[in-house]
Amino acid sequence: MSALAIDLPEDVSAARDGILKFAEQEILPRHAEYQAFFEDPRAMYGEDGKFSETLQSLIRDVRESSAKAGFYQMCVPEALGGGGLGHLAYYAAWQALFHRCGPKNWLMLYSLAHWAFGPSKLLEQITDEALAKVMPGLLDGSKSMCFGLSEPNAGSDASMIKTKATRDGDGWRIDGRKIWTTNAPIADYCVIFAVTNPDLSVANKSGITAFLVPTDTPGFTVQRIIKLFGHIGGDEAELAFDNLYVEPWQVVGEIDNGFAAALYGVSLGRIYNSARAVGYGRWSLELALDYAKAREAFGSAIADYQGVSFPLAESATELHAAHLMGINAAKLLDRGEPAVKELSMAKTYSVKVGYAAVDQAMQTHGAMGFTNEIGLVEAWHALRIVNVADGTNEILNRTIAQRLLKGDVGL
Ligand SMILES: Cc1cc2nc3c(=O)[nH]c(=O)nc-3n(C[C@H](O)[C@H](O)[C@H](O)COP(=O)(O)OP(=O)(O)OC[C@H]3O[C@@H](n4cnc5c(N)ncnc54)[C@H](O)[C@@H]3O)c2cc1C
Repeated sequence: MSALAIDLPEDVSAARDGILKFAEQEILPRHAEYQAFFEDPRAMYGEDGKFSETLQSLIRDVRESSAKAGFYQMCVPEALGGGGLGHLAYYAAWQALFHRCGPKNWLMLYSLAHWAFGPSKLLEQITDEALAKVMPGLLDGSKSMCFGLSEPNAGSDASMIKTKATRDGDGWRIDGRKIWTTNAPIADYCVIFAVTNPDLSVANKSGITAFLVPTDTPGFTVQRIIKLFGHIGGDEAELAFDNLYVEPWQVVGEIDNGFAAALYGVSLGRIYNSARAVGYGRWSLELALDYAKAREAFGSAIADYQGVSFPLAESATELHAAHLMGINAAKLLDRGEPAVKELSMAKTYSVKVGYAAVDQAMQTHGAMGFTNEIGLVEAWHALRIVNVADGTNEILNRTIAQRLLKGDVGL
């Protein structure tokens, strides 16, 4: 039986099925083998709060194995040396991975190049020199990167960034700070967004340039690892740049027009997070259905009570709608349309209903839903966060309203 009348193109379904098989053969066994390790936060994080050496090498190993098998880089543009599959494949593969692996087998996060931590279309306009110097390591999975846009005083309104790049000979000197930069503690490169023309940047969101910077450049410091939800370490960091010198080969795209790259990157993030929310939502719904059929109260399986089954029916309905929205937005992007409204709708709706589905699955499990063993808590944390990351729900509603008021009322 098929829930979707929309057939995915053959290359897209083959890519999705291929990476799922990879996850089954390579990711799930690693988690089984390292189960005790993944249950011990003191083994996972070093004293400094960074991922421990063992964890870093497990992550690198997954990236490299997937790259060797041809999956890691499959959605990277061909011009950058990747497989050239588009946004729909990116959505479909991530959705399937999150659905199949759930939050416990999280090394799967490194089996497909993430738009911000690995090679992606974000780098489409790098220089030939950067292509030769940086892409081989990113494509084979030995290196990773991060996306430095948000700052202590610039979140939703990224045009408020204060990090500046001042001309020095042929290059620039970068000074400033970034915050919330995911993967920064272990990344080899950072795409830093900096103001190169303050007058333009205030006026119309230009005047900002993107630079591709090795994280071992003098003047680049990871100042602090940010710990979320009571973890003893973290993958987000606060960064400081002090007189950091960059050369012309490091410019990504056009000088003073880096905001376009930032917005495109965030669009990829919205596809990724729509897929993540639908995938985790489906995973938790299926867990709840199994539990409801097995758990008994008052002489019957709890699934027999409509108070238990109707909320699950609602979750399923919402996740189905979110899934269709994600597929639709990805298809529009593949057609070359910006899909600003549709992508904003898909992301804000998916993360809300995905989060609600996980929450409902916890409720269905009773006290069992709050234990560390099942993984619902991890999915709940992850989806709570993406109601903020890559555009808050309010900012996405703002974008949708702006589009509607401009006459973009197609639904
Ligand atoms: C786990 C995590 C990882 C992240 N990773 C990265 C990363 O790798 N790189 C990066 O650059 N950034 C990253 N971010 C930052 C993220 O992009 C910002 O958190 C996000 O853009 C919101 O900015 P803010 O947190 O500063 O909230 P603010 O912009 O300060 O907003 C605070 C509140 O005000 C609301 N608000 C603001 N303006 C309006 C408005 N006009 N109308 C209605 N409501 C409004 C917001 O919706 C929010 O509820 C990450 C964030 C998280 C949580």
